[in-house]
Amino acid sequence: MKANKARGAVGGGAGATPRDTGFEGEYAPAPETTKVAIAPRYGHFIGGKFVEPRSDGGKGTRPGDHEPHFLTINPANEQPLAEVAQGSEADVDAAVRAAATAQPKWAGLRASERAKYIFRIARRIQERARELAVLETMDGGKPIRESRDVDVPLAAAHFFYHAGWADKLEYAFAGRLGSPPLRGGSHLGNPPLRGGSGRLARSERDSRPGGAGYPEPVGVCGQIIPWNFPLLMAAWKLAPALACGNTCVLKPAETTPLTALRLAEICQEVELPPGVVNIVTGDGRTGAALVSHPRIDKIAFTGSTDVGKRIAKATAGTTKKLTLELGGKSPNIIFADASIDQAVEGIISAIYFNQGHVCCAGSRLFVQESVLEEVIAKLRLRMASLRVGDPLDKNTDIGAINSRPQLDTIHRYLDAGRNEGAEWHEANGSALPSKGYWCRPSFFTGVQPSHTIAREEIFGPVLAVMSFRTPEEAISRANNSAYGLAAGVWTDKGSKIFEIAKKLRAGVVWLNTYNRFDPASPFGGFKESGFGREGGMQGLRGYVRL
Ligand code: NAD
Repeated sequence: MKANKARGAVGGGAGATPRDTGFEGEYAPAPETTKVAIAPRYGHFIGGKFVEPRSDGGKGTRPGDHEPHFLTINPANEQPLAEVAQGSEADVDAAVRAAATAQPKWAGLRASERAKYIFRIARRIQERARELAVLETMDGGKPIRESRDVDVPLAAAHFFYHAGWADKLEYAFAGRLGSPPLRGGSHLGNPPLRGGSGRLARSERDSRPGGAGYPEPVGVCGQIIPWNFPLLMAAWKLAPALACGNTCVLKPAETTPLTALRLAEICQEVELPPGVVNIVTGDGRTGAALVSHPRIDKIAFTGSTDVGKRIAKATAGTTKKLTLELGGKSPNIIFADASIDQAVEGIISAIYFNQGHVCCAGSRLFVQESVLEEVIAKLRLRMASLRVGDPLDKNTDIGAINSRPQLDTIHRYLDAGRNEGAEWHEANGSALPSKGYWCRPSFFTGVQPSHTIAREEIFGPVLAVMSFRTPEEAISRANNSAYGLAAGVWTDKGSKIFEIAKKLRAGVVWLNTYNRFDPASPFGGFKESGFGREGGMQGLRGYVRL
């Protein structure tokens, strides 16, 4: 492999030069050397075993000519990685049945025993961390530095964190009295404790697992995840569900199924009871079959707002519980009194992390007018040094776009931005590999709130820069969005931080930082960004009946 040219090259119309950046010369490549074995073909993981896909009975839940498998490819070189099963209705049914059969026994285990399994999953993720990171990068296109330092450690952390909750659920819902189990017997198989009147009296409640005051699991959870953080999203879904005594059928996204299938191997390695976790691969049709399955008690969905709305309609009028983690168009607000260099780093991480394939990406930048020019100059300079290319190179900052359709979507938004009158800056002219899906980081200035690029989620490395004069204007422009997932605020004034943060309609507000995640911190949205929380004590709420 040839050494990459340093990112001093001029790109687009407005690129910084090597003279500007001080970056001259060549970077040596630093390729990841861990080899990962990938089977030529994968089945579903149902009832603790990998199984061949079943016939769909001609119902057309498979692509094309009812092919039972489809290819997952490496978006950085378009090479096929493996054939993966396309889940039919029959596959989904088998997985849901396996989960339903396993659920009472799993819920009936002593809670500290459940915790041990979850803890072991976390440990195995750590032990297989490098392999998982490489696989995540190959299947999804994200830089190895991110999968190695963010995705995989956070996935392990989610399992560790929720292992800790499994035998302490009564403390998570202290003061919230439980109701008798809905489906006969509590999750230790004990009859619910009752007072003489037949009604549950507070004094007679028992907060031990199996007591009436102990939160009951929801039952069988259908969990559908997107392609931007495949292993991490699987951890976000599975860990709290298992801790609360539920069993699961997880459907990974069609372009990134491989790490979820590795997680299935880990479930086998830790001898998780068969049926507690089931993984059915496939596209949206497999997801729809899971949503409509009558034996599902809860759907947890992370993905686009459009599909989220469809799922909300499909589950309306049923007893299925629903949580939706949807899209975003998050504001990142820079006040003139902020540390500008620090804020510029924050802008970069807010929008260009994971190629901008981040639901909470800070894709609308609001800069106080008096420092707008300075911020743009520094941003351009910093962007010129971003390294775009081979995601398996440890020095790469921006990897491959996840799929051809997503690249096409990003290009449509770039066209819309230019056509509607905004000015486009592609401040990085690095050479791109000849194969694969690539998009250099860029930003728009001269953006109006009515522009498509200021309103719609692009899900790519594209930033819309706008300005404001007063804090009130910053708040009203930031809140002027159909979404409400996250926000960032940069200022040196502590009082301003709290004043602004409480007025922002966003589920997460980062102050003088961005894109920080911790399993103890709940994550979720307002408005069209969905409802329900994942992580923290609040995230357990979607997986229990009180
Ligand atoms: P998507 O909605 O197209 O797909 C998400 C998942 O839903 C995939 O597994 C897909 O196969 C499945 N699916 C598609 N149609 C379905 C249907 N009719 N019924 C059931 N399942 C169906 O989204 P995507 O393109 O994979 O992911 C990007 C989106 O996810 C972005 O909008 C992003 O903001 C959002 N996202 C949100 C969060 C969050 O926590 N709020 C996190 C990550 C991604």
